[in-house]
Amino acid sequence: MTYNFEEGIFINGTWQKGSFTIPNINPSDISENIGDLAQANSNQVEEAIVAANKAQPLWEKTSLEHKVNVLQSIGDELIQRCEELGELLAKEEGKSKAEGKGEIYRSGQFFQYYAAEVLRQIGENAASVRPGIDIEVTREAVGVVGIISPWNFPTATAAWKIAPALAFGNSVIWKPANLTAASAVALTEIISRQDIPEGTFNLVLGSGGTVGDTLINSKDINAISFTGSVETGRKIAIATSANFVKCQLEMGSKNSLIVANDADISVAVESAVMGAYSGTGQKCTASSRLIVMDDIHDEFVEALTKRISELKVGHCMEEGIFMGPVCDKDQFESNFKWIQRAKDLGGKLVIGGEKLSLEKEGYYMSPALFIDTKNDWDINQEEIFAPMACVIKVKDLDEAIKTANDTRFGLTAGIITQSLKTAAIFKKAAQSGCVMVNLPTAGTDYHVPFGGRKESSFGPREQGSYAKEFYTIVKTAYQKPY
Ligand code: NAD
Repeated sequence: MTYNFEEGIFINGTWQKGSFTIPNINPSDISENIGDLAQANSNQVEEAIVAANKAQPLWEKTSLEHKVNVLQSIGDELIQRCEELGELLAKEEGKSKAEGKGEIYRSGQFFQYYAAEVLRQIGENAASVRPGIDIEVTREAVGVVGIISPWNFPTATAAWKIAPALAFGNSVIWKPANLTAASAVALTEIISRQDIPEGTFNLVLGSGGTVGDTLINSKDINAISFTGSVETGRKIAIATSANFVKCQLEMGSKNSLIVANDADISVAVESAVMGAYSGTGQKCTASSRLIVMDDIHDEFVEALTKRISELKVGHCMEEGIFMGPVCDKDQFESNFKWIQRAKDLGGKLVIGGEKLSLEKEGYYMSPALFIDTKNDWDINQEEIFAPMACVIKVKDLDEAIKTANDTRFGLTAGIITQSLKTAAIFKKAAQSGCVMVNLPTAGTDYHVPFGGRKESSFGPREQGSYAKEFYTIVKTAYQKPY
């Protein structure tokens, strides 16, 4: 399917142009412009807010079965077209087409899951402490929800917000990241064909400074769900709290994978590779800190280095690649500054960390592994968002857990061990929202809660049935029947 990205803004059931356009560069081949993307101005954001407020009560009143059909239909179409839509996503983000396809498929599953969740909205009854009074506790839609999403999982992060927002009767204004807005137009095109009141779903493409800023400072939006960096999340928390607007923030992290002395080496190596380098290391769940106990350290580093040497980097459309390019020029340049910083600090580069010249000019680099690093160095404290992992050697489980928790983030944490006792101690002690045993830190299911602690998350959990805490508001009704 072809799209008119220049008219990529969708407000009140109509496609619109913006004030100007920006090119959408393919990071696998920077000579290719995927399309010129419309950029909304703040008047258009205001227009979307008015439309969403008008539509929301109509959508909330729409029958449950109709809502089920709408969500199911979006989910089914995403799954049917996952190959085609996955390629579009891969082209603009840089991930391999297999990863792009997987992301679209997973996004479809979010819609299908929340189609079923529409019918699971069951309230509670309570006895009153006062005789002759009945109490009902029910949930209602929050109202108009602003959704702000990042570029690294452009469709999945949005799908896990849009689907529950619609399922629970809210209207939506979605602001995707500019780097990956073509996928947003593609998802919106599917939603635009659904039988929903005009204004129930709106897409406003544009920058954080214009579109994002108007959304987060609006008093006519009831909730903002955001995924992105800590820096932006902090701005959103401050802006929304000034207006008492509900907010939910999923942000960055600096996740760790502990390799215990009794680890199965092949499990440890595969988990480290998938955790640190899949998605070109651009995952909030990436394990960029590899905390390795000293008895297994040398064997692990040798096996991991060999495995990294086999990882193929290439154009997102090439068959058999493990890793595509870095998403854009800024991130590419930033990655090499961090590589240099790690060397300057005294880390030993074992493999990778180099610019790669391939057939097409793109933002290609080889996956990097550093050893002899310390946890308190900034390379192990800041989220770098690169295919770069640093090994930190520790003597025992106690030191490993202390090191893993010694961070301002807390999204995911993992351990590779064959001991049930070690796993149990770690699961309890890890200060993170998700804990993985004998698995990569990246990779989660869609029907259970997802989120972190410390600076990684703020507000109610996303995904699974827990999403209703954010997308609904509780009402307690007292009634004296006679
Ligand atoms: P970002 O914070 O730069 O941008 C995220 C979104 O916020 C974009 O749509 C952007 O345009 C918008 N934005 C920027 N400034 C804004 C402002 N002032 N007001 C309102 N909106 C504004 O993040 P990014 O670079 O797109 O994404 C990478 C980050 O996202 C990483 O930190 C990564 O860890 C995080 N992330 C977290 C999760 C999670 O679930 N915890 C998932 C994916 C990505």
